[in-house]
Amino acid sequence: MKIHEFQAKQILRAAGVNVLSGIVAETPEAAADAFRQLNLPLAVVKAQIHAGGRGKGTVQEIPTQRGVQLVRSAEEAATVAKNLLGNKLVTIQTGPAGQTVRRVFVESGCDIARELYLGVVLDRATARPVLITSSEGGVEIEKVAEETPERIFKEHFDPNVGLLSYQVRKLCKKLQIKGDSARSAEKFMKALCRVFVTQDCSMVEINPLVITKSGEVVALDAKMTFDDNAMFRHQDHLALRDLAEEEPAEVRAGEAGLSYVKLDGNIGCLVNGAGLAMSTMDIIKYHGGQPANFLDVGGGANAKQVTEAFRILLSDPNVKGVLVNIFGGIMRCTTIAEALLEAYKTVGFNVPLVVRLEGTEVEQGRKILKDSGVNIIAADGLTDAAKKIVAAVSA
Ligand code: ADP
Ligand code: MG
Repeated sequence: MKIHEFQAKQILRAAGVNVLSGIVAETPEAAADAFRQLNLPLAVVKAQIHAGGRGKGTVQEIPTQRGVQLVRSAEEAATVAKNLLGNKLVTIQTGPAGQTVRRVFVESGCDIARELYLGVVLDRATARPVLITSSEGGVEIEKVAEETPERIFKEHFDPNVGLLSYQVRKLCKKLQIKGDSARSAEKFMKALCRVFVTQDCSMVEINPLVITKSGEVVALDAKMTFDDNAMFRHQDHLALRDLAEEEPAEVRAGEAGLSYVKLDGNIGCLVNGAGLAMSTMDIIKYHGGQPANFLDVGGGANAKQVTEAFRILLSDPNVKGVLVNIFGGIMRCTTIAEALLEAYKTVGFNVPLVVRLEGTEVEQGRKILKDSGVNIIAADGLTDAAKKIVAAVSA
């Protein structure tokens, strides 16, 4: 689960990570008030969307307006907020459709001397969290990793112990952070690593981390993603969820207990098991088709879930055909066949449907479908299924 910059900064501040003061606004008037309240000659108005790249991104309706802008008066803050709020911001991470801005964050302006990068993620290879730092801040870290990997410095740490002082000293030396700034960096880095662990994050990213002209270390940007599997430990995180930022079909699927990820193709896939879903997508591609989604109904899906899955698949106008690929292991093929017919009754299939069933009670399952008289293309094996659905959507 992703959260907004202003929410991440609240969590960081509470944990002792240095952030600037800022106020969230949902109207231009509130943005002007926020500027007055900050009582500084310089502030920034920042669009709050889950995607990054806002500084270089532009508003679809007003191409001269960027997603992050310095302002010097309450009037200017109101104007920028007016340009952003309710409009779509297009950044390299939103795709051309953009994302509607519903809030802005009015933050103190910062005297930037240097921009660096700090991020914490889980390194699966060593099974430990890793603090990633770079002397190149404010640019995409993926690009730095590719072009100038020598400017990236990492320290793994034990989640129970946290980042240690000698590790901070090593990093400060490589990043050329000295004196008071190094002391400020130590508190910052240790607190950031602690937040990653205590909040069960899958990622925390400070890009840029800034060293101010007075030598202070401060987070100018903040991205935080929580591990959904740990959500049961953080009921307070649920209040931070912004459903408006999420793909509506994925939200619906989540509510029905389905794992669904929307993709760009035209073949809807309904599969049980994540591994089978991956190989189904692969084989569709192998035979020249494009999957419209990843959908795992899980091992114990019932008629209600299968019906909801069909509803979600068929509500996507890009879907020109559906491939059902079920291996009856825990689930019996007869249950799935009945669920399919149930879904047909409630949703109706307006596109070709190819069904491949295998496993427990497969013969009876196939018979149920055949006897129903519903227009279903039966497939025998994965290859046959893929070929048939690709042919059906290109017909
Ligand atoms: P994004 O990563 O989405 O583009 P950032 O929060 O990193 O958004 O902001 C983009 C740029 O705007 C930063 O690299 C920094 O140069 C500038 N900026 C952001 N916040 C402030 C601030 N409080 N004061 C001064 N400049 C800022
Ligand atoms: Mg940034």
